[in-house]
Amino acid sequence: MGELGQHQLLLTPELGGRQKLVSIITYAPLEPDPLVKYQICDHCNMCVNICPTQAIAADRFDTFHMDGMELTTGHLTKWRCIFGCGGLVSKGTFAMTEFTLPKSRPSTEEMFSYLARKHPAQAYLEREVGAQPAWYAKCYAVCAVHLYKKKDDKSLSSEEKDN
Ligand code: SF4
Ligand code: SF4
Repeated sequence: MGELGQHQLLLTPELGGRQKLVSIITYAPLEPDPLVKYQICDHCNMCVNICPTQAIAADRFDTFHMDGMELTTGHLTKWRCIFGCGGLVSKGTFAMTEFTLPKSRPSTEEMFSYLARKHPAQAYLEREVGAQPAWYAKCYAVCAVHLYKKKDDKSLSSEEKDN
C-alpha cells in the first residue's frame, strides 16, 4: 500500500500522506496490492523541523520488517507529540495552553494532570464538539503539501517532455 514516512505516518504513491485509513470486515476474496518497493519519503526533514517539541528525531530511527523488506522511520517520542499538537504548548495545532516542556518523560499521573489543566476553551471544544487532540497535525500538513508539490512537479515535467 505504501510506506511509513519519517513522521511514522502512512505515505502512498498516489496520495502521499493525504489519506485516512478505515477498516471493513468482509468475506470477499481480495487480491492484496503488491508492496511498494521504493521510498516515498525523501527525508526532506520538513516534518522534523516544523514539530514544535522536537518529537520526531532526524538522526534516530525505528526499523520494522515486512515481507523481507526493512522499513525505517524517524523515532517518535510520543509524550513530546502529545505536548506539541495535543494541546499543551501554544505552538501546537489548535493549542491554547503553554506549559513548559518537561526535560524528561512525565509519569502517567503527571501527563493526566497536564491534560486536565488545559485551557478551558480547548477542554470545552474537546468535550462539546468531540474534537480530538490534533495529533499528527503540523508534520502531516507540511508533508502532504511537500509530496503533493513534488508529484505535481514530476507530472508537469513529463507533460512538458511529451510536448
Ligand atoms: S516531510 Fe519529508 S521527511 Fe517528513 S515524512 Fe514527509 S517526505 Fe519524509
Ligand atoms: S503531530 Fe505535532 S507534535 Fe506530533 S510529531 Fe507531528 S508536528 Fe510534532
